[in-house]
Amino acid sequence: MTRMLIVGPPGAGKGTQASRITSAYGIPDISTGDIFRANIKNETPLGKQVKAIVDAGDYVPDSLTNQLVTDRLAEDDAKDGFLLDGYPRTLEQVKYLDDLLASKGQELAAVIQLVADQDEIVARLTKRAQEQGRADDSEDAIRHRQEVYVRETSPLIDVYRDRGLLVEVDGLGDMDEVAARIRAALAERGIHPLEGAGEPVA
Ligand code: ADP
Repeated sequence: MTRMLIVGPPGAGKGTQASRITSAYGIPDISTGDIFRANIKNETPLGKQVKAIVDAGDYVPDSLTNQLVTDRLAEDDAKDGFLLDGYPRTLEQVKYLDDLLASKGQELAAVIQLVADQDEIVARLTKRAQEQGRADDSEDAIRHRQEVYVRETSPLIDVYRDRGLLVEVDGLGDMDEVAARIRAALAERGIHPLEGAGEPVA
């Protein structure tokens, strides 16, 4: 029953680490960014509603995002644990998630913060833009997303630190190293991978 969040600036490697955590700890990786992108790709009503916002690197309105998370957490695979990746991102979303979990008698076990340097991040995102062609990976959009993160999302870190939930992990270095740091930091809090999960695979 491991319920966790992973937070960090755009480009800190959240997605990569989230997919490793999910297999090692046997919990689904719920990425609001991935869900929005899938909806945009499939041209669903939600996708059409949020496309311009996501492409510009702005945040989708809390009302839409909160509802999406409520629906996703109600699915069977999320009943016994989850890793939320990219949510909450605003203080209003924090409040919403608090109430949602409280209404189910659930609690968070940890909030993993990936710490990464701004220059390194911009370099990574530029590389990803070339490899994946994400519409929100233009240089302007990258810069804008960093600004939005600092303004809207970095205050959340203090909230979770005050609650004693924050697990700070250095996000620099190769993916295996970062994954190993996350495992060690979680183990210190008594959160362990599934038996036989072995080392996370790429
Ligand atoms: P990144 O890799 O830049 O951290 P994500 O894949 O997590 O980005 O999210 C991509 C985009 O999806 C965000 O820039 C934003 O437009 C939208 N989005 C994702 N999660 C949220 C959220 N919790 N609240 C508002 N908008 C969100």
